[in-house]
Amino acid sequence: MSNLAGHVAIVTGASSGIGEATAEALADEGASVVLAARRAGELETLAERIESDGGDALVVPTDVTDEDDIDSLVGTVTDEYGRLDILVNNAGVMLVEPLERASRENLRQMVEVNLLGLMNLTHAVLPVMQDQDGGHIVNVSSVAGRRASANVSGYNATKFGVNAFTEAVRQEVTTQNIRTTVIEPGAVDTELPTHITDEQVLERLAELDMPMLAPEDIARAIVYATLQPEHVNVTELMVVPTGQT
Ligand code: NDP
Repeated sequence: MSNLAGHVAIVTGASSGIGEATAEALADEGASVVLAARRAGELETLAERIESDGGDALVVPTDVTDEDDIDSLVGTVTDEYGRLDILVNNAGVMLVEPLERASRENLRQMVEVNLLGLMNLTHAVLPVMQDQDGGHIVNVSSVAGRRASANVSGYNATKFGVNAFTEAVRQEVTTQNIRTTVIEPGAVDTELPTHITDEQVLERLAELDMPMLAPEDIARAIVYATLQPEHVNVTELMVVPTGQT
C-alpha cells in the first residue's frame, strides 16, 4: 500500500513547474490529487498523465484571487471525496522590478496571488480539516521569504507574509492535529521568471550563471514533510541549489 493512499491533496499552481511536479509526486505516493490553476488545458494534460500512470486526479480550474473559485474548489473536493488531507498552496507570481519603476498592478497581483489567495484558501479548508480531526497545509514560500533583496521588495513582502501567516496559523491549529509546513525554495528552473517585464532585471538575470534546482527537487521536499508520522510536524524546509550564494 502506498503511503498516501486514501489521502486527498489539493495542489494550486499545478499547471506548471513546482506544482505540476508536486502533484505527480503526491499521486505517485497514492494520494488523489486535485489540480488547481487557471490554465485548464495544462491541468487536463497532467491529469491524463497521472491517470495513465495509475493515479487519481481531478481538475478544478481555479483562480486563487477569486473568492468564489476558492469556495467552489473546496466544495467540489468535499462533494467528490468527502475529505481533504493536504493543501499545497503553491500558486505564485514573481514580478520583480525596482520599486521606483514598479507597476501597481504587478504589486497588487503578487499580493493577491502569493499572499491573499493562500490565506483565503487556507481559511476555506480549515473547517474541513477540523471536522475530520486533522490535515496538513503546505505553503510554498521562498528564500525570498527569509532574505530581502533590492528589486524584490513586493515579492519579498508577500513571501515574508507567507512565513508569518503560516507560523501564526500553526500555533492556532497544531493542537487540532493540523500540521503546517513552509517550503522555501532557492532558484528552481520553471516558468516563474518568464513573466518579468523589467528590461534591466531581465538583462541581469540573463547574465547570471546560477545553479538551478529541478521542480522535482522541491516536490521531494514537500512529499517528505507529508510522509512524516502524524506526531511530526516539519514546520520549515529551505532547499537551495548547491552553489547558490
Ligand atoms: P511557475 O510559473 O511554473 O508556476 C506558477 C503557478 O502558479 C502556475 O501553475 C500558475 O498557473 C499558477 N498561478 C499563477 N497565478 C494564479 C492564479 N491567479 N490562480 C491560480 N494559479 C495561479 O513557477 P514555479 O513553479 O517556480 O512557482 C511555484 C511557486 O514556487 C510560487 O509560489 C513561487 O513563488 C515559488 N518559488 C519558486 C522559485 C523558483 O525559482 N522557481 C523559488 C522560490 C519560490 P496558471 O497560470 O495556469 O494559473
